[in-house]
Amino acid sequence: MEPIKKFFDIIVVGSGTGGATAARFAAKKGLEVCLLDSKEKDKVGDKICGDAVGTEVFEFLKINAPRGKELSCHIKGAKLYSPNLKKCIDLFDPKQAGYIVNRLEFGQRLLNEALDAGVKQFLDKTMALDLLYKQDTVSGVIVKLKNGEKTELKSKILIDASGFYSPLRKKINSELIEKTISREDTILCFREIVKFSPQNLQVQDPEYISIILDQEKAPGGYIWYFPKNESSVNIGIGTFPEYKSEIKEYYKKNVFNQFILTSNYDIISSGGGLVPVRRPLWSCTANGILIIGDAACQVNPLHGGGIDPSMRAGLFAAKTAINAIENGDLTINSLWDYNHKVMTSFGAEFAALDLLRMTLQVMTNAELNFGLEKDLLSGEEILEISSTGGLNLSLLNMVNKAIKGIAQPNLLLDLNYLRIRMKEISKLYRNFPKNIHEFEEWKNKVTQVYDKIRKMLINTKKVN
Ligand SMILES: Cc1cc2nc3c(=O)[nH]c(=O)nc-3n(C[C@H](O)[C@H](O)[C@H](O)COP(=O)(O)OP(=O)(O)OC[C@H]3O[C@@H](n4cnc5c(N)ncnc54)[C@H](O)[C@@H]3O)c2cc1C
Repeated sequence: MEPIKKFFDIIVVGSGTGGATAARFAAKKGLEVCLLDSKEKDKVGDKICGDAVGTEVFEFLKINAPRGKELSCHIKGAKLYSPNLKKCIDLFDPKQAGYIVNRLEFGQRLLNEALDAGVKQFLDKTMALDLLYKQDTVSGVIVKLKNGEKTELKSKILIDASGFYSPLRKKINSELIEKTISREDTILCFREIVKFSPQNLQVQDPEYISIILDQEKAPGGYIWYFPKNESSVNIGIGTFPEYKSEIKEYYKKNVFNQFILTSNYDIISSGGGLVPVRRPLWSCTANGILIIGDAACQVNPLHGGGIDPSMRAGLFAAKTAINAIENGDLTINSLWDYNHKVMTSFGAEFAALDLLRMTLQVMTNAELNFGLEKDLLSGEEILEISSTGGLNLSLLNMVNKAIKGIAQPNLLLDLNYLRIRMKEISKLYRNFPKNIHEFEEWKNKVTQVYDKIRKMLINTKKVN
């Protein structure tokens, strides 16, 4: 093994979608970047996933959209099913269009583009173990290299992109950063890629992803059926984590056996993992460190999609790190700008969707069937909520909904209360403080909105 370099401007831990993107944009600006991953180089990107990503992030980052081997298929939109499957709402909108990717090939492309952009050192099979500190600022990382040797790598800025189980987040000396993520803010997912035999094609609606809400089969989450191509699907479940020990059997019974109605198939891939479904960490930065992607809980709380935000955060983190290094200020004061970028963009949307997620998780199948069958929310309105985190309703629209929801007035009142709180929290996030000194006051206001929603859920006797 060649001697390795040990001093860098930026070290990025984790080469998933977030880390590869951060490394790419930092290296492109000429900074000395080290990217590392515990996986072998040709396994980087291989992640258990639903494989769905929208079109917008590629336009936002101005990078190539998936194509060739990394593209499994194009998606025109989504179909949302009620628990009794009697109602299907079509969610078609150019913004909801996207791709189903082959995760390994997609990840390898992002890695290679980062290396081509000028990453100085890529270390595979290298495990980050602990943070290095100089006074109260992160100054690097202790790693175990692929030859088993433990060593110290020094950075001006460390970017933690090591995913949900980040070993580094827990080691950060800052009260602003949550060390553990509560179970109720996570969803346990399990999925399989199923290939049907060619004579027995079974893929339904091959251009649309299907989502089934069902609080009995998938409490707290949903069942998905995503096409991969004309003969394969990615089918899975996201549910409360208490099913952890028996998730595979649970999935087989409630998902696979219900939706795969043939015996002519091969299972191409099988596995699961935890996904954070909440607003981003209170702070995604501390002195000398930026946290991105799953490690920072930057995942859409409504559907668990984290590829898009991890890549956006990668760009934001690279920009902030470059400025901080140029200005010679590596403290949270100069890195705070990264929090500002995250919270005022997708953070605002995710905070609002987090309130919706909490409410949906305690709704019964009867309420979901009623709400969807009575069109209490139209496809356009669901799209508006899921892409902006809010819903603007005219008086006429509200009266119309009141008439439709007359049989369940409490449900309608709760939903309207929720809509107002979503707007409130989204506004708070869009006005995220520009400097750390106003943070505590802001945090109190956000906490009050959460408390109001919890109180509403308690009052309706849905939670303890
Ligand atoms: C079953 C399932 C289905 C999903 N479906 C979708 C979907 O359809 N669409 C979507 O957008 N999102 C989906 N997600 C979420 C999505 O996969 C993640 O949000 C996204 O991959 C986050 O990217 P990341 O870069 O933050 O982390 P990751 O992709 O998890 O990358 C982290 C990287 O860090 C490396 N690493 C970890 N620990 C260390 C260490 N100590 N030292 C060095 N390296 C380390 C890992 O090897 C990995 O390469 C799904 C998740 C699951 C579990």
